[in-house]
Amino acid sequence: MSLNIVVCIKQVPNPDYFSKITLDPETGAISRKNIPTILNPVDENAIEEALRLRERFSGKVTAISMGPPQAKEVLDWALTLGVDESVLLCDRAFAAADSLATAYVLAAGIRKIGNVDIVLCGNESVDGATEQVGPQVAELLDIPHICNATDISLPNGRQAVVRRNIEYGHLTIEGCVPLLITVSREINQPRTATAEGILTLMDKVSRTWGVKDIEVDNDAIGLAGSPTRVGKSYEQKLERERMILTGSVDEMVAAAIKRLKAEALV
Ligand SMILES: Cc1cc2nc3c(=O)[nH]c(=O)nc-3n(C[C@H](O)[C@H](O)[C@H](O)COP(=O)(O)OP(=O)(O)OC[C@H]3O[C@@H](n4cnc5c(N)ncnc54)[C@H](O)[C@@H]3O)c2cc1C
Repeated sequence: MSLNIVVCIKQVPNPDYFSKITLDPETGAISRKNIPTILNPVDENAIEEALRLRERFSGKVTAISMGPPQAKEVLDWALTLGVDESVLLCDRAFAAADSLATAYVLAAGIRKIGNVDIVLCGNESVDGATEQVGPQVAELLDIPHICNATDISLPNGRQAVVRRNIEYGHLTIEGCVPLLITVSREINQPRTATAEGILTLMDKVSRTWGVKDIEVDNDAIGLAGSPTRVGKSYEQKLERERMILTGSVDEMVAAAIKRLKAEALV
């Protein structure tokens, strides 16, 4: 039993620098200039799960990303971790896409890869965080999906048994391949890159596909294909005062009471 697995990965701004993201006061556009980027954290878990499935059943793992040319960095990282091939979906026509137009292009790329058994995604990105892309890709590929997986087993290689947490327990859901699964961070502990993995990078296949390489309707991609409209963007002003107390517990309690009394709050 051999599995053809695709893992969707996204390059995102490093959350440590979110406070440095600015808004253009005129246009409201987000400026991510000079903000370092990383692989979306839960996508590392999706890569790890894909590699574990391949190790168990054999087959191939392809990492795919839609993004600007620099998104190749996260695809190269995936290749050093052990992914077999990568596809970057990169074209100016894809820019300014919302989650639906992003999923549409990803689905077209996955269709071009062909005969895919399992598509793995993270459950959410740390920047957009809509949790929509995985389910939308599944709908566009007309395959079932299961979200927020904390465990995936494939007893016979075709029937997936997926566990996901819910508020007061967990659900176990079964589904047949082909299917799409979004994973949560608890699912595994991602491996780290090895020197051997880095050395294999040169021998791996990395493709870049633009609008002419995949079958897409030009009206369904980029800004034109995005039904979401951003009404207004604004910077939230924190007007509450913050006070950090230091010292022993008794000293901090005494200082807090003194301050609350001074403000006539107690
Ligand atoms: C009107 C509008 C305009 C926008 N314009 C821009 C823009 O110009 N530039 C910009 O960077 N963003 C832009 N965005 C944000 C961008 O569309 C979203 O980041 C993107 O749609 C993914 O949604 P998400 O981050 O909420 O993903 P989620 O659904 O939270 O992500 C879940 C998972 O889906 C997969 N995934 C998500 N995105 C990708 C991807 N691109 N490639 C591969 N896998 C992916 C990953 O596995 C991820 O873990 C815009 C959004 C809107 C609404």
